[in-house]
Amino acid sequence: MAETLTAPRSLPLTDLSEDERMFADQVRQFAEERVRPLVASMDRDAAIPRDLIDACFDLGIMGIEIPEKHGGAGATFFMSVLVVEALACVDASLAVLVDVQNTLVNNAILRWGTESQQSRYFPKLASKWVGAYALSEAGSGSDAFALACRAVDEGDHFELTGRKLWITNAAEAELFIVLANADPAKGYKGITAFLVERSFPGFTVGKKEDKLGIRASSTCELILEGCRVPKENVLGEVGKGYKIAIETLNEGRIGIGAQMVGVAQGAFEHGVRYSQEREQFGRPIADFQAVQFQLAELATEIEASRLLTYNAARLRDTRAPFIKEAAMAKLFASRAAEHVTSKVVEVYGGNGFTREYPVEKYFRDQKVGQIYEGTTHMQLMVIAKQILGKM
Ligand SMILES: Cc1cc2nc3c(=O)[nH]c(=O)nc-3n(C[C@H](O)[C@H](O)[C@H](O)COP(=O)(O)OP(=O)(O)OC[C@H]3O[C@@H](n4cnc5c(N)ncnc54)[C@H](O)[C@@H]3O)c2cc1C
Repeated sequence: MAETLTAPRSLPLTDLSEDERMFADQVRQFAEERVRPLVASMDRDAAIPRDLIDACFDLGIMGIEIPEKHGGAGATFFMSVLVVEALACVDASLAVLVDVQNTLVNNAILRWGTESQQSRYFPKLASKWVGAYALSEAGSGSDAFALACRAVDEGDHFELTGRKLWITNAAEAELFIVLANADPAKGYKGITAFLVERSFPGFTVGKKEDKLGIRASSTCELILEGCRVPKENVLGEVGKGYKIAIETLNEGRIGIGAQMVGVAQGAFEHGVRYSQEREQFGRPIADFQAVQFQLAELATEIEASRLLTYNAARLRDTRAPFIKEAAMAKLFASRAAEHVTSKVVEVYGGNGFTREYPVEKYFRDQKVGQIYEGTTHMQLMVIAKQILGKM
């Protein structure tokens, strides 16, 4: 399957191989049939039903890049981007659950995990275990490497102490990639990545945030009190956690770009339909040029976001440099999603401002795209550094 996934260079970016098209269509169909009916209740209850998460495992979208020998689909990063986009057209919360699993957790274990770690965790991550990625803390967000979580070497294991904040998937996850500093005297060069199971002694999941958007996606605090992590659960090398964090997030933000493309596309589809149904002055509002031009502008922004995102993902899959392109994709797609969803609310008029119609949720859901996996300012810093050759 994997060989057929990389499109020849001469093809347009949005030209999908047969496998890619089939997979994306299948996921969109799943989103329409299984997810759409639950969107309002998931938002209200601030939870994703376990059945739906299990259905994602059954569909094979929780282990997209996991090798087939470990129970995954053995597919590409680009495939993850298509899946996240298709899900986000319908629900941004489920999209980010799948995104974190694939583009951060599986991805980091694929790149830095030992054979033994991969054999231990991949079959579970492909079939039933949700994963989470824990870098941020109350005192270190954009300044991620100022983290205060400490790891003390106790011979055959490390003891982790500290708190993590804002951890997506924490309510559901069984496996957490936790970044902690094992040698604070060395500054960021002491930061180490650990594979922490939910059942490890000294580990608890704390308060869940009550959020503006992506309400069904869990975002919780983690509390580590002398959490005992066996040495064989160090991911990569001791002191190389900063590299793992930077490189994983460089890739992960392409997934957030895809989530934002999906959110914008999903809202836009509602807007187009509504403009053809809603009548004022004796005709559909889509007959008015002002509305037509608005839709044309939004369609153009979505197309540009998609091209940036697909390009970054294709570059990543071909191992070409992609850091600048990934930051540009997230920067542009998250801003476009804000604009598109806001304008679609206006297309709906007063109805757009109520919870009875679906578009206000898209408007709430998009906002996080400019915050997580590096704020808009951080994306601008990455792009500027790349342009000025300082990285
Ligand atoms: C819903 C949600 C889910 C999340 N999921 C995860 C997760 O799974 N794992 C995880 O580790 N983290 C997660 N995060 C955390 C997220 O990555 C951080 O919130 C983000 O990096 C910003 O950090 P902060 O909130 O501390 O904001 P701050 O860093 O305090 O930033 C506040 C403002 O200051 C600006 N700013 C800061 N420094 C500079 C600078 N040098 N130059 C210019 N402007 C600057 C920022 O751009 C921003 O506008 C999540 C956050 C949210 C809201």
